[in-house]
Amino acid sequence: MIGDRHVHTELSLDCPAKIADVLDCAVSGGMKEIFITDHCDMDLGPDWLQPVERYTETLEEYKRRYAGKIDVHIGIEIGLNPEYNGQINSYLASWPFELVVGSVHTMLGKDPYYREEYDLEDHEFYASYFKTVLERLRSDNSIDVLGHLDYVVRYGREKGASYFPEKFSGEIEEILKILIRRDIALELNTGGLRKGIDFVHPHEFILGMYKDMGGKRLSLGSDAHFAEHVGAGFDEALKLMGRFGYTEKNIL
Ligand SMILES: [Zn+2]
Ligand SMILES: [Zn+2]
Repeated sequence: MIGDRHVHTELSLDCPAKIADVLDCAVSGGMKEIFITDHCDMDLGPDWLQPVERYTETLEEYKRRYAGKIDVHIGIEIGLNPEYNGQINSYLASWPFELVVGSVHTMLGKDPYYREEYDLEDHEFYASYFKTVLERLRSDNSIDVLGHLDYVVRYGREKGASYFPEKFSGEIEEILKILIRRDIALELNTGGLRKGIDFVHPHEFILGMYKDMGGKRLSLGSDAHFAEHVGAGFDEALKLMGRFGYTEKNIL
């Protein structure tokens, strides 16, 4: 099976999965490589920072321990926010991460996970999200992948039922243009399938736009926070890619 490019471990605050269990699941699922991408969010407070030495030394140890069984790549999922640009860029420059997933985890100064804190209808909630992603991409951090575009639909009051991506096509087009210009891969993230969403992020309307605009680079990740979810939903994501003429060769 193709390697998972978005995986969390116990090194992330919101993840109970032991590193060894994650790697064992990947090996038993037939993966030859895996990219660990634990959270580092400057704008969510000190608990969400990822001390770079402790993080990379811990994962280097597992890289050695699993050598010959699976290639363990040390990545990071960095929370994008221009207010913290200096810190973000010096963090990314401080170690040669093998994959940098840039994600938006905050909007209007809050975490969209806590949907009830926003006095917005779903449509406004989603509109604000796309606007935020666009603003944050303009801050030019050196990332390899844009993580889970449209993931906030998971937290919508009506989830997918109130989501019409075509209504945000102006912002989406600008986002995709930036990805293509800067050679950033669009991530297919299967995490929503386990959170009440019936599609792989981003919605196929967005994937179709990306294809039409000449977008070639994709990434594929489960966003697993439990070991048994490593590689979950990949069959569905690969089928979807095939429908748009993408193959595994498009995955960076
Ligand atoms: Zn994320
Ligand atoms: Zn993640």
